[in-house]
Amino acid sequence: MTIRKIITEPDVLLRKISNPIEKFDKTLKTLMDDMLETMYKAPGIGLAAIQVGVLRRVIVIDLSKNGEKKNPLYLVNPKIIFKSQTLATYEEGCLSLPGQFAEIQRPSECHLEYLDYDGKPQELKANGLLATCIQHEIDHLDGILFIDYLSKLKKDFIIKKLSKQKKDIERIVV
Ligand code: ZN
Repeated sequence: MTIRKIITEPDVLLRKISNPIEKFDKTLKTLMDDMLETMYKAPGIGLAAIQVGVLRRVIVIDLSKNGEKKNPLYLVNPKIIFKSQTLATYEEGCLSLPGQFAEIQRPSECHLEYLDYDGKPQELKANGLLATCIQHEIDHLDGILFIDYLSKLKKDFIIKKLSKQKKDIERIVV
């Protein structure tokens, strides 16, 4: 398994719409294995393929706590079929928006259809942290970031800060 590079905002790739998976082949399994390793290493609780630069509708999630048995969830071509009226608020962060956090409101429950690691169709009813995490990750597949739910002022401020950070990191003199 390989740790892949996580792309960060601003990056045009993060705004692209990912394409569905059509074939469950070795390349896909390698991608899912690499994504899981990359997410654990980061560390994060969810990662979408686009965050490692792959425009495919693939997500990995693991909400297990430190020291608990790992509990990876692989979502291929996930589709939300129900969202509750009731909302829940979490302070969200994102591996593609390093150091940025904001309180975001989303439906507290969602139901989805997806294909699992082996390509088998599955259904899942999620609530709480899992429901929020799934919606955050599916947003990535549609080119949406959590900062899109903030006011334009707050969003622009965060993007400006991140582009400055990026420049600072990439500027080297050798
Ligand atoms: Zn994210």
